[in-house]
Parts: sequence; structure tokens; C-alpha cells
Amino acid sequence: MSKNWKRYTITAALPYANGSKHIGHLAGAYLPADSYARYLRLRKRDVVFVCGSDEHGTAITIQAIQENTTPRAIIDKYHVLIKNSFEKLGISFDIYHRTSEPVHHETSREFFLDFYNKGLFREVTNEQYYDEEQKVFLADRYIMGTCPNCGHEKAYGDQCEKCGKSLSPAELIKPHSTLSGKAPVLRPTKHWYLPLNDYEPWLRTWLLRDHAKDWKTNVYGQCKSWIEGGLQPRAMTRDGEWGVKVPVKDAEGKVLYVWFDAPIGYISATKQWAMDHNKSWELYWKDSDTRLIHFVGKTTSCFTASFFR
Ligand SMILES: [Zn+2]
Repeated sequence: MSKNWKRYTITAALPYANGSKHIGHLAGAYLPADSYARYLRLRKRDVVFVCGSDEHGTAITIQAIQENTTPRAIIDKYHVLIKNSFEKLGISFDIYHRTSEPVHHETSREFFLDFYNKGLFREVTNEQYYDEEQKVFLADRYIMGTCPNCGHEKAYGDQCEKCGKSLSPAELIKPHSTLSGKAPVLRPTKHWYLPLNDYEPWLRTWLLRDHAKDWKTNVYGQCKSWIEGGLQPRAMTRDGEWGVKVPVKDAEGKVLYVWFDAPIGYISATKQWAMDHNKSWELYWKDSDTRLIHFVGKTTSCFTASFFR
């Protein structure tokens, strides 16, 4: 690491704006990132330190239904709360942005369209469980019913917590939506999948050979077991209204998967900061003399490994 970097782009994991954060988050990602940014500034280095609220996704949509409010009300409340906490703690972000901002939506759509135009997605239609009263597709954990194995009446669509058996919603006796209490129905829905399996060869080389010594043992072990188990195509879109609209034909009522748009949040935050300070965001992301460093928690290993090279 003798290279003399001209500038540094430092990111800290975007907090999900559906609740207040705790001391573990602070110790895990923000304090180390802040210390590093301050150290570089003391050494008179050119640094941009970006972060912001992650404001899309199913969890916020479902929380809004459960609290009888809107996703917008939830993010507006927690964005301010989280931003103020960071300020009071003295975390020295150059910008604390939000993924609900227009510049983020625009940047995320550009990424999606770029993948789309290069033919990198596969369009797949399959049947998913739908709540007709709440008008939402249901993830397995939002479906409950009686366990076919032990008779427990509150088993989830993915697992019975009493006997530990892995389940699918179709196996539950008397399945019902946890949102409306009604029985869910199967409906066909189309999504755009990124075939992660197509990227397995370079990921294997990059992760397990070229950078094997750069990872903590537990992260390395986890990533290795995923790759050896075989990567699967993953849907990059979801049904719903809350999020970045899918910018192609025949995609009404579809939004980008939150894990597709959230990592782009680092770039859109840098764009906003650059606009505010009359700088070029591209120098901080595309120049080979820029060092890019992400501070993330270990629970995001699978997304981090998939999205960052
Ligand atoms: Zn059971």
C-alpha cells in the first residue's frame, strides 16, 4: 500500500430509516469511519466522507401499514432523528443524504437502465402470495398458519419457531396474512433478475484468490461457503409503489429492490455534495488515483460482496 493516493472517498453504511440506531451501530461502522476521515484531514488529504438514510424497501412499507401511516411519514421521522443523533455525536460526514431524494432516484434508474440495455437481466414471471385486502405481495414471514409438523398455530411461512422445521407458505395449514388476517392468494408477477451465477468465476478469483488475505476470517469463510454452494439469480425488482420506479416498459407498480438502489446511495450522496461545492463527483468515484473505502457492518457481507468490486 505504498501508492500515493490523490484523494479518498469514505462511505459509512446507510442506516435504514425505520427506527432509532444503537451504540452497536455506532461502534461498528460510524466511529471507525469518522476516526479515519479525521486522521486523513489532519494529514491535509483530500477527503469526502459520505453517508445518508436508506429509505426504501418492504420493511418500511409493511411498517407503514401496521402503524396506519405512510412510508413518507416513517422516513421523515427517522431520517431527522438519525441525522440529529450523528450531529450530536460529532460524526463529521461531509454530507448526510437520503435515498428518497430526486438525484438518488435518477442515478439508480441510470444504473438499472445500463444493466437493462446491456441485456444483463433475465425477465422471469412466477407466482407469489398476495394479500387482496392490503393489495401487497407478501414475503414468507408475513404469512402465518398452523405447522404441519407439530401443530403450532403461529408458524411463519418460512419456519416454525416451535419445532424449528423449515417451511414454505404452501405447507401451512390455514395460512393467513399477518397484515389483514385473510388467506393469501397466488398471483403471477414479473421481475427482472440478475443472474449472480454468471459472475461466479470472477468473483471466486477476486474474492478467494486475489484478496483472500484482505478479509476477516469469518467474512472470508461466509463468502467462500456462498460461492461454493452456488450463487442464484436474484430479483432486482419488487412489486409496490414505495421506492425507485422501474424505468422500463410494462413495469407499472414495480420498484427497484432496495439492495439494488441503496448501495448507489453512496454515489448519489457524493453527487449532491459535489453539486453543493462546485466539484466533480466523478473524480471521487472513477479516477484511479482515488482510494475508495467502505465501512460496513458484517451482516451486509453478502450484499457488499455482490455489489462492490
Ligand atoms: Zn412446528
